[in-house]
Amino acid sequence: MSDDFHLKKITELNQLLISKQISSVELLQYFLKRIEKYDSKINSFISIDQDRALKIAKNADKRIHNNDLNLLTGIPYMVKDNISTKHFPTTAGSKILDGFKSNYDATVVQKLNQEGAVLIGKGNLDEFAMGSSTENSAFGPTKNPWNLNYVPGGSSGGPAAAVSAGFCVFSLGSDTGGSIRQPASLCGITGFKPSYGSVSRYGLIAFGSSLDQIGPFTRFSEDSEIIYDVIAGKDRLDSTTKEISKNKSKVNLKNLTIGLPKEYFSDYLDDHVKSNIMELVEFLSKQGTNVQEVSLPYTDYALAVYYILAPSEASSNLSRYDGVKYGFSDHNVDSMWERIESSRSNGFGLEVKRRIMLGTYSLSSGYYDEYYGKAEMTRQLIKKELNSVFDKVDILVTPTSPTTAFKIGEKISDPMAMYSSDIMTIPANIAGIPGISIPVKNSNGLPVGAQLVGPYFKDNNLLNIANEIQKLTDWHLNAVEFD
Ligand code: GLN
Repeated sequence: MSDDFHLKKITELNQLLISKQISSVELLQYFLKRIEKYDSKINSFISIDQDRALKIAKNADKRIHNNDLNLLTGIPYMVKDNISTKHFPTTAGSKILDGFKSNYDATVVQKLNQEGAVLIGKGNLDEFAMGSSTENSAFGPTKNPWNLNYVPGGSSGGPAAAVSAGFCVFSLGSDTGGSIRQPASLCGITGFKPSYGSVSRYGLIAFGSSLDQIGPFTRFSEDSEIIYDVIAGKDRLDSTTKEISKNKSKVNLKNLTIGLPKEYFSDYLDDHVKSNIMELVEFLSKQGTNVQEVSLPYTDYALAVYYILAPSEASSNLSRYDGVKYGFSDHNVDSMWERIESSRSNGFGLEVKRRIMLGTYSLSSGYYDEYYGKAEMTRQLIKKELNSVFDKVDILVTPTSPTTAFKIGEKISDPMAMYSSDIMTIPANIAGIPGISIPVKNSNGLPVGAQLVGPYFKDNNLLNIANEIQKLTDWHLNAVEFD
């Protein structure tokens, strides 16, 4: 038996557990050993609790012994540290939450724990999920497992790097403008952002509430579907959720029509990224898939709309961190107002402060109509345009990111260059529709991801298409090797 457990599918691990070829405790120890050996270089975890994970794994072994198991029983995972957990601190990558521990588990964590999945720890991120490189974390940057001089993408860089490096079978991230798909692309794994309202956000630390979604990172899209099926569905604690349909139709690549939006293949796309995406398109075309060029002219406004709406919502959401209710508080001052000012000044990092200022400005009474109001109206146009393209095509195929991973430090002092990393992923958040990034061929040793975007609440269909592609190709099997 090959012991590359980090390269196996959930169903394969499940079989090994059922047939007692490995126990859940042994599986966990395998991953803990890899973490111990390599994570000091990568910095994907903010916190780990080995003893607790061992207890859960022992419990999973009991369930397996009693034949009371699910596909995820005994499977080790990580969650991004802006998802609340009772037994770990929840930092959102920020100093302002120093010492904060949630008194409840997020709905997604509760659901996974019920299945018997084994939570190892919490993943590094850009502070409050604001960024595209994980360099904005108060806990230091995460490195890309493919090349330690490069960023893993962001904001969910920790969870993406952890799956890419083989520290866990899957992880959960959050995606407000691309924070699951872009790091998945830069780390060479699969990352799925579900439709808005299909997965509960209860317990996710709010950034842009009308855009935020939780979703999985996995090596295989088949595994993403398993996790999605567990975490999706109506939650009375998040009123934006609704029931998902359990009807799954089979996908045939031959009967499929894909759209290539020409705005996504323009000047700002790196040539080598483009040619690797086109290899996927050619492959699909050989399978009999119908390929059409489409045009989505409002795409050009998506980045501007996002950088008004997301900071506006953030400025409101982050007003609760006042140095009184949560975490860090500056006690060296006299009055209440000074305490608030000093705690926020010292607790928040530079990017978060920039977003709060941008958002407060856009929402101020003198500028509301000119900025926030206009952005809301433009959002509707982008949404309408995207929704109606699905009358013509089943899904869109685009690059996930205009470039491969960039060097640590390369874009940190140029916010506009950093913001442009999400130019391809943001439209799906604006429209609330699902998107998945899957690996295609590497370029110069760094991964490239293709994004598939589908209609609202047709998440399982999108996952099935990604799965069909992975059944017939091997790009996703290309994994990092250390030493
Ligand atoms: N990179 C984008 C931002 O900085 C998206 C972040 C996200 O999806 N959480 O806002």
